[in-house]
Amino acid sequence: MANVTLRNVRKTYTGGFEAIKGVNVDVADGQFCVLVGPSGCGKSTLLRMVAGLETVTGGEIDIGGRVVNEIEPADRDIAMVFQNYALYPHMSVFNNMAYGLRNRGMAEAEIKSRVEEAARVLELSAMLERKPRQLSGGQRQRVAMGRAIVRQPKVFLFDEPLSNLDAKLRIAMRVEIRKLQRRLNTTSIYVTHDQLEAMTLADILVVMNGGEVEQVGNPLAIYEKPATTFVASFIGAPPMNLMSTRTDEIKSQLGGSAGEAGILGIRPENFVITDQTPSGGVALSLTVEAIERVGAETFVYGSREQEDQRVAATPGELPPGEVIVRIPGTEAPAIGQKIRVAAIHSKLHLFSGDGRTRIE
Ligand code: ATP
Repeated sequence: MANVTLRNVRKTYTGGFEAIKGVNVDVADGQFCVLVGPSGCGKSTLLRMVAGLETVTGGEIDIGGRVVNEIEPADRDIAMVFQNYALYPHMSVFNNMAYGLRNRGMAEAEIKSRVEEAARVLELSAMLERKPRQLSGGQRQRVAMGRAIVRQPKVFLFDEPLSNLDAKLRIAMRVEIRKLQRRLNTTSIYVTHDQLEAMTLADILVVMNGGEVEQVGNPLAIYEKPATTFVASFIGAPPMNLMSTRTDEIKSQLGGSAGEAGILGIRPENFVITDQTPSGGVALSLTVEAIERVGAETFVYGSREQEDQRVAATPGELPPGEVIVRIPGTEAPAIGQKIRVAAIHSKLHLFSGDGRTRIE
């Protein structure tokens, strides 16, 4: 069993900067855990602590029932795949994959069998004699993964492994990584700042902000019930619309006593253009400012007629008064047109005024 448990893990860098402020995460054996959050939130620091590349200032890191805080990286039974592949340019693909095993003094016959098996899984069998410069970016990334696979570690750690690839290849490799992990069933922790990558890869998603965990759970459950306005705007693109509920324009029938400040959230895809106001739902009047047609769907950017008082601002949040509405297809209202949009009660999210608590 190779579950990974982080118990109240803390990191203060030399100089006093507190990068990780007490993180608790439980990754079960065979699970794919993704750490996601904006630049500087501490996700790489946390991963590097699991790898043993950074010291742990407080708390415990447990891999397979063993606290590894004081264990050297080479003895943790983990393999890490980095963003910049770190392949040896003068060595063949075979030797790049074999390198770590030779260093451990493994018998050549065993090395050959492991490398050939990894190459088969990664569809690199025909390229074992090539040098890295003779490979495409995606193939190099597969070699980097091959190097991790041949070690047959208990845990894979991925640090933004796809960020050097172009958009199309990223998607292809994302699918590859997921298939590979399902097949090998190796516990994995994966760092990315890309919320879509995070959503599609994760069994368990950890949303981080400022050195702390904002929410942990199944990705769709987080999408459907974000715990804070930070999570609401970070997960999902375009972001959830967030607005103060203390306005006359929005007739919110959600919880909370009348007049209490709160933040109402509605995802762009949960609006429909209609003159009706659904019972218990919300309707807004908008002036269309811009239209984005992306093929299967269209994004309508509207401004609200009465700007509300914002009580909290979080990264990725819309500017005050702007609302994004997603509609299917390519037919859209004209710029300058006034429209009414509405969302039904079950699609409304309500947060406390400071955005830190979900009310409904
Ligand atoms: P990114 O996506 O930009 O890589 P991240 O979420 O991975 O960001 P970290 O690299 O973990 O963030 O950094 C977290 C915080 O710790 C940042 O504010 C960073 O400036 C700080 N930090 C990182 N390394 C050090 C260091 N060696 N000394 C001091 N502060 C550091």
